[in-house]
Amino acid sequence: MTLDPQLRSELAAIVEPQLVRTLDELGFLGAVGEVNGAPRVELVVPVTEWPNLAAIEAAIAERAPGASVVVRAMNDDERLGLRNFLRGAMAGDAGPGHHEHGDAPPRFMDKLSKTRVLGVSSGKGGVGKSSVTVNLAIALAQAGYQVGVLDADVYGFSLPKMLGAVNDPIVLGDTVIPTLAHGVRCVSMGYFVPDEQPVIWRGPMLHKAIEQLVTEAWWDEPDFLLIDMPPGTGDVALTLSEVLPRIEMYVVTTPQAAAQRVAQRSAYAARKLKLAVRGVIENMSWFTGDDGRRYEIFGAGGGERLAQELGIPLLGQIPLDTQLRVGGDSGEPVVVAHPDSEVAQAFVALATTVAAQGPARVYRQELRLV
Ligand code: ADP
Repeated sequence: MTLDPQLRSELAAIVEPQLVRTLDELGFLGAVGEVNGAPRVELVVPVTEWPNLAAIEAAIAERAPGASVVVRAMNDDERLGLRNFLRGAMAGDAGPGHHEHGDAPPRFMDKLSKTRVLGVSSGKGGVGKSSVTVNLAIALAQAGYQVGVLDADVYGFSLPKMLGAVNDPIVLGDTVIPTLAHGVRCVSMGYFVPDEQPVIWRGPMLHKAIEQLVTEAWWDEPDFLLIDMPPGTGDVALTLSEVLPRIEMYVVTTPQAAAQRVAQRSAYAARKLKLAVRGVIENMSWFTGDDGRRYEIFGAGGGERLAQELGIPLLGQIPLDTQLRVGGDSGEPVVVAHPDSEVAQAFVALATTVAAQGPARVYRQELRLV
């Protein structure tokens, strides 16, 4: 048996799941040869513990049954080449010869981009903002959208754990490759601060950290980038209003009157920054007992009242469910672990509503002045 001359091009066309580019474009495909009558394929990856090796090897086995796969880590030049390719691809100039210009801003930041940036905020902590971010993100990904989440809640980075994003992101020089978990790309600012050490985020440092993770992580051009923001009215909203002025704000609250009042303050602060506040999400709305009755543990009507006061829609009501907390603690979010549950279905409905309401402002090419 001689090596099929087509084989190399077939293997080169395999799409890497995390970077969503072909092995050829990424420089992941090394030598393809033959040993003792069987194909031998060399994979060249940024680090030998590349998270999707099993999936890539399975794709190779499909096209080259019986092939042996040898994995090698990229050398410094190859890593730099990949970094330049990714930055160029993200900026929208991936054509040959453009790699050295890879530092243009990512295309998703452009106002004509398809990407919608959703800032999830709340008046105070503990209302379930991070849980809502995670489950909404996965529900959007399950609906077929490309989704990223940035954990910017500097008071407690909880997203990676909730998402089960156990691998640290891979850093290629100055470019961060988010962890892929349940179909969602995730980067947490928490990865870049020392473990267990309290960090006092001063304005300029916070600004720089957020700006870097927005502009230098491999978000590609997702349909949705969700940002888990710290509760309250602080610096992060100010930074985001400068870095991502197209951000749409979503306010999470509970049905309680007191929670509603603090949520309102954070919505007004966002409006002061000229951010579009798009809707209210009420969490912990009720608990459905075994008897099928709804118990309104935190009262009722807070979300609706807040929405009315702000003149925006109440987009969803999420019930209380122990499975949601358990899923958050174990990294198997409830929309994945119990997709048929009432709470998971509430997130699916919320995702549908958020997607259906479309971007905040429609920028039309023909109306551009410059
Ligand atoms: P925040 O981000 O607002 O601080 P979290 O998402 O971290 O809030 O939620 C706080 C705690 O409440 C977590 O333990 C979470 O699992 C739990 N929780 C949030 N929403 C619900 C819900 N609808 N049902 C049950 N537990 C919830």
